[in-house]
Amino acid sequence: MQQLVLPVLLASFWTVCTGSGDWCYQSQFTCDHLCNVPENWNHVNSACGGQKQSPINIVTRKTFKDDRLTPLKFQNYEEIFRSTIINNGHSAQVQIPTVSTISRGDLPDEYKAVQFHLHWGANGGPGSEHTIDGEQYPMELHIVHMKKAYSDLTTALRDTEGVAVLGFFYEVSSSSNRKYEPIISALQNIQATNGNTSLSPISLAQLIPSEKNLTAYYRYKGSLTTPGCTESVIWTLFENPIPLSIEQLQAFSKLQFNDGKQMTGNFRPVQPLNGRKVYRSGSAVILANSAILLATIAIALGLSEPN
Ligand SMILES: [Zn+2]
Repeated sequence: MQQLVLPVLLASFWTVCTGSGDWCYQSQFTCDHLCNVPENWNHVNSACGGQKQSPINIVTRKTFKDDRLTPLKFQNYEEIFRSTIINNGHSAQVQIPTVSTISRGDLPDEYKAVQFHLHWGANGGPGSEHTIDGEQYPMELHIVHMKKAYSDLTTALRDTEGVAVLGFFYEVSSSSNRKYEPIISALQNIQATNGNTSLSPISLAQLIPSEKNLTAYYRYKGSLTTPGCTESVIWTLFENPIPLSIEQLQAFSKLQFNDGKQMTGNFRPVQPLNGRKVYRSGSAVILANSAILLATIAIALGLSEPN
């Protein structure tokens, strides 16, 4: 009997410390928690080791300007709906019961919103999945859409262009964002995994910048950022961030992973581009540089006084 104990113990240490079983984020990994960290997600699902994975770091000077990336058409984003917010063990997620759609902006079809969820850091620290020129924002919102003809995400994911995700970054602001109160106040009721609570009525429009501030965006083809990592996602990442106060951002860190640990750092690290191209809409990023350039020239010519 005694002789059996050591090999069993060794075997279990081996399993625990190399990771096996369910997937997890790096922030969850300890030697007494059995889980696969992001670099081992390909053991959970081979697609996670694919060539078109998300998220990525967007190097703005290497993006390609594309005039087909016109402003998106948002339909029914203003409609107020009732739903439930759930702690699914990896994030806070909300199902979308309305038929809200996006089209244009070179999307190959009309896509309807299915759910939204977020990825964040620790207490308002770096936590976005995508990064812009290496900058990681405190949080990232993903509004997941699928082609209008499909009735469920599983089917949509079999189509290489079946899913379109809109990604939005957050920035720390000095005042709180009242439009986020329904979500922030619900978080205290879903601290434990599988916790869910009804959300005060909200619209998708109230969670994102106004339409006129959504013309600058990046586009590339990638994957889901959690296992199965299916490479069926058309990504649209908006340049303009959503402002939240530090207290509002910190409220997300009160959630718990399914192991009871504080839910922080629920982002996947950036993945290799592997030759993929990232496109930018006409109004994205380089405009800011030319504005500075023009101002510099104006100052040099004495046309304008620096203040
Ligand atoms: Zn996500």
